[in-house]
Amino acid sequence: IKKIGVLTSGGDAPGMNAAIRAVVRACKYYDISSIGIMQGYEGLIQDDVIELGPRDVKNIINQGGTFLKTARSDEFRTKEGRQKAYDNLKKNEIDALVVIGGDGSFTGANIFHQEFNVPFIGVPGTIDNDIFGTDYTIGYDTALNTVIEAIDKLRDTATSHNRVFFVEVMGRDAGFIALNSGIASGAQDILIPEQKDSVEDLCESLERSEETGKRSSIVVVAEGEQLGSVFEIAKQVQKRHPEYDIRVTVLGHIQRGGSPSCQDRVLASRLGIAAVEGLLENKTNLMAGIRSNKVVFTPIEEAIKKHNEIDEELIKVSNILSI
Ligand code: ATP
Repeated sequence: IKKIGVLTSGGDAPGMNAAIRAVVRACKYYDISSIGIMQGYEGLIQDDVIELGPRDVKNIINQGGTFLKTARSDEFRTKEGRQKAYDNLKKNEIDALVVIGGDGSFTGANIFHQEFNVPFIGVPGTIDNDIFGTDYTIGYDTALNTVIEAIDKLRDTATSHNRVFFVEVMGRDAGFIALNSGIASGAQDILIPEQKDSVEDLCESLERSEETGKRSSIVVVAEGEQLGSVFEIAKQVQKRHPEYDIRVTVLGHIQRGGSPSCQDRVLASRLGIAAVEGLLENKTNLMAGIRSNKVVFTPIEEAIKKHNEIDEELIKVSNILSI
């Protein structure tokens, strides 16, 4: 392997820049070339690439988003699109890819490998933490910190007005952001897709807290919650308790932005280097991740198909603390 291409694909996440930087500098360290591919797979199809040296990735470790940009490429889902991508890969003499993104991006890379035998290693970059094979994904820790900062602010208003605040947080079909930010921000209840929730239980929890003298509450709702949208849930609670002063806040895309936390920068740096080292050892179709604070590689099919379980102990912690 003489030249590695790096791209970011799918939703952006804080720390992606730190991962790109690590890939580029590891390439230099191991005396090979690196090239940045713009806008995920779209850049391969359109031949939008830039040669990158160690100094080209200065001053980005602290920046959110991804300076290579990211895109959802429909054309890469077609055989013709992938053929174009492969032709440009050859033209630019790219021998292997580091794909920073989520499971969709890994699926694309896997299909590309099956068709054209292009070695690749995936690096999990998504705030949702919903990828198997790593304890943490790049961007998750920053998103958590953004969420608790926002909820802390909502709490000021909730307490001043005796309000019940429903806060919707991201996470796709997973409740990691909701559960952890909910615990950290002292939520009265946390609704996550992995658990069977009911409006009755939620009301009971709110009533119980009222009885013990609580005058305001925060309820964190994961976007993938099966009971329905945060607005529907709030409406149902309001029906049962017309006396509650209820407000709904959807945090939305602020959760995806911002300067990456220390943990995300370090994680991204480790995984970016691991991906390059893996490729140089002729590893392919793997995802670099972190387990018990050690770098590990997981077969990409497992990373795509399997799911990390929600930690039951964390659910217990949340239940005990909302007494
Ligand atoms: P996030 O979890 O942040 O959304 P993701 O990587 O899962 O990130 P997707 O939009 O699912 O995001 O996938 C990113 C890109 O990967 C797609 O736009 C497409 O170009 C490519 N891709 C996804 N699935 C496939 C597939 N089955 N075949 C070919 N390419 C695919």
